[in-house]
Amino acid sequence: MTTKQVQPAIAVTGLRKSYGDHVVLDGVDLTVQQGTIFSLLGANGAGKTTTVKILSTLIGADAGDARVAGHDLAGNPDAVRAAIGVTGQFSAVDNLLTGSENLRLMADLHHLPRGEGRRRAAELLEQFDLVEAAGKPVSTYSGGMRRRLDLAMTLVGSPSVIFLDEPTTGLDPRSRRSMWQIVRDLVAGGVTIFLTTQYLEEADELSDRIAVLDQGRLVAEGTSDELKRRIPGGHVRLRFADPRVLETAVHALGEVSRDNDALALRVPSDGSMRSLKTLIDRLDDRAIEVDELSVHTPDLDDVFLALTGNPTHEKVTTR
Ligand code: ATP
Repeated sequence: MTTKQVQPAIAVTGLRKSYGDHVVLDGVDLTVQQGTIFSLLGANGAGKTTTVKILSTLIGADAGDARVAGHDLAGNPDAVRAAIGVTGQFSAVDNLLTGSENLRLMADLHHLPRGEGRRRAAELLEQFDLVEAAGKPVSTYSGGMRRRLDLAMTLVGSPSVIFLDEPTTGLDPRSRRSMWQIVRDLVAGGVTIFLTTQYLEEADELSDRIAVLDQGRLVAEGTSDELKRRIPGGHVRLRFADPRVLETAVHALGEVSRDNDALALRVPSDGSMRSLKTLIDRLDDRAIEVDELSVHTPDLDDVFLALTGNPTHEKVTTR
């Protein structure tokens, strides 16, 4: 059996971009495998949109190499443009046209023959649950419908790599979930997704790999679980009925952080059955009554807060 070398959908090394003396990207390296979802996280102004704009050929980088969909970004931007789709903060949707007209216009821009263009438009309206709204002007669409149409328009050109820049910002939970399902279906069909998002839950839900951008650099990269394991913060929270019991528990458990107002203790724990059993046995041995016990494992919020906005942190890479 021969193993075929599959080249990554996106491979970036040493990407730099400054505006005047404001360094936005300070040497970013990243690799996105074909048919996967990669999420780029970062605070407002971290450089996520700038990264998307560079990789989708909208603006140039100051330095660095990038290959997107197998083409060199600097050497062959037209080939990159033909292979990618971009949706999000720069929507191509025309409000005065209907959904169907928008899609057919896109088909014309991609030089699809008329019949094929109509077929593709009809297919996409069906796929994105827009058949009923197809003949109505986009100005009458809800936010969720508009996002779906925007993504459908991107797909007219059958891109192999799609950049989704904050695709669900402002959508209600149901519309967000429907967008997630569309994204999953696209990836199941072999498309690669490069996602930027403000919602850590979204990155957690969808991504194969996640990178965190802070002060121009990637400060962490890995699967969601790998990133969470790197962050201390797993604990058990115990709440007691009165201050005397709380005091007895502090003596019994030693090093714990306490919240006197809430009559609660925070005991470091990995949340495993074994560590819970040990804790409960210690409390039982001293007949300490616990009013409420809850187990907290770190989530992506903890990862994000631990990794961003701190100039001295080390890069964490998990491969
Ligand atoms: P957000 O989550 O708020 O969208 P972001 O991570 O996408 O943020 P970018 O839009 O990439 O951030 O912006 C990164 C930084 O670059 C910001 O400080 C922004 O003000 C600056 N910037 C972006 N475009 C320009 C420009 N054309 N001229 C000058 N500065 C710019």
